[in-house]
Amino acid sequence: MQTDYAIIGGGIVGLSVAWGLLQRGRTVTVLDGDDGSFRASRGNFGLVWVQSKGMNQPRYAQWSQQSAKIWAEFANELGENTGQNVPLEQKGGYDLHFSEETLEATVEKYEELKAKLGGDYPYEVLGHNALHKEEPHIGPKVVGAILHYQDGHANPLKLLLALAADVRRMGGKVLNGKTVTDVRQPDGFQISCVDGSTISAGKVVLAAGLGAAGLGPKMGFKAPIRPQRGQVLITEKLPKLINRPSLIARQVDEGGIQIGATNEEVGLDDRVTQPGLSGLAAEAIAAYPALARAQLVRSWGALRILSPDGLPIYQESTVMPGAFLVTCHSGITLAAAHARLLPDWLEGTHAAPDLEVFNEDRFAIS
Ligand SMILES: Cc1cc2nc3c(=O)[nH]c(=O)nc-3n(C[C@H](O)[C@H](O)[C@H](O)COP(=O)(O)OP(=O)(O)OC[C@H]3O[C@@H](n4cnc5c(N)ncnc54)[C@H](O)[C@@H]3O)c2cc1C
Repeated sequence: MQTDYAIIGGGIVGLSVAWGLLQRGRTVTVLDGDDGSFRASRGNFGLVWVQSKGMNQPRYAQWSQQSAKIWAEFANELGENTGQNVPLEQKGGYDLHFSEETLEATVEKYEELKAKLGGDYPYEVLGHNALHKEEPHIGPKVVGAILHYQDGHANPLKLLLALAADVRRMGGKVLNGKTVTDVRQPDGFQISCVDGSTISAGKVVLAAGLGAAGLGPKMGFKAPIRPQRGQVLITEKLPKLINRPSLIARQVDEGGIQIGATNEEVGLDDRVTQPGLSGLAAEAIAAYPALARAQLVRSWGALRILSPDGLPIYQESTVMPGAFLVTCHSGITLAAAHARLLPDWLEGTHAAPDLEVFNEDRFAIS
């Protein structure tokens, strides 16, 4: 039997899209790879983040804002449908600075972006003393912070679990161990998996994270994505130490402090390294000195999925109409947009969001 949509990839991006399509009454089969796959959705930092996004492309800033605005409603709906809470806090987030120069330079860029966004960029600059009132554990080396009110953080693993549960509840099939090796379009789509099975679908969404780099060109996409390693640390559960998240550290809903993440161009290597982890720890202690006494309980590395300009790619194949590439750097932030807004683009309705700037034409390579 033919499914309306086959989604290749069962990470946050594939499941968010699957969820949105199921909500519209489409039949959906999610084909996910094996346990050896790289899976950013299981190793990320959990920020639902707006500030610093789209500094050179305001549409990306807007797209992130749109998603952040509808995230709470999306998380609530997932919670109600599945009985699985998706913890989310959206009371702002910080970009912490250790020098006046970097703080001023960033504010200058934010002002430019704010003007391009018609003023919709609610942030405030806090000097050290004002920041200290908000964050009593902040260290003396932090000269100040940009507090952006559209920022927040979530529990990304609980999001992944709730999404998978709700996709199944709505009748979606989520098949694991189904690494796709080929996609053909003689009559609808025929999708071949490594185990010899074939799935027929009316449309295909390639949301395979780093797996799209290999499969994309077979479907007529450039898919110029690359891995970038991020190492992350987490401490034991602690009493409240951090009120709002930053790009350096956040206190997760369960109490541990998550510290991260590095940005390393090391290919398909997701191991942790001693210099990477000690660099993260040193920066976090500079920001919150009390962390020097915290016990670390876990560290891991995971690979980001980056396009050359860091922006998402939303592209319909010209070679295989009905096949779409969906990939992005910030799948947690964009989960709500992918679930609630992107299906209109896939379905070509009058409500489709304008995603023109995110197509692959912007990349010169073929
Ligand atoms: C360290 C780190 C920190 C991050 N922090 C944040 C953050 O704070 N906020 C935020 O918004 N984002 C963050 N991200 C990014 C976010 O995690 C990713 O954007 C998101 O997880 C990408 O989801 P995905 O579904 O595209 O990819 P993945 O989670 O990698 O999933 C891809 C899936 O495709 C499957 N697959 C691959 N090839 C095939 C194939 N041929 N056939 C079938 N299936 C296949 C794999 O098995 C895998 O399950 C971070 C990422 C990292 C690494």
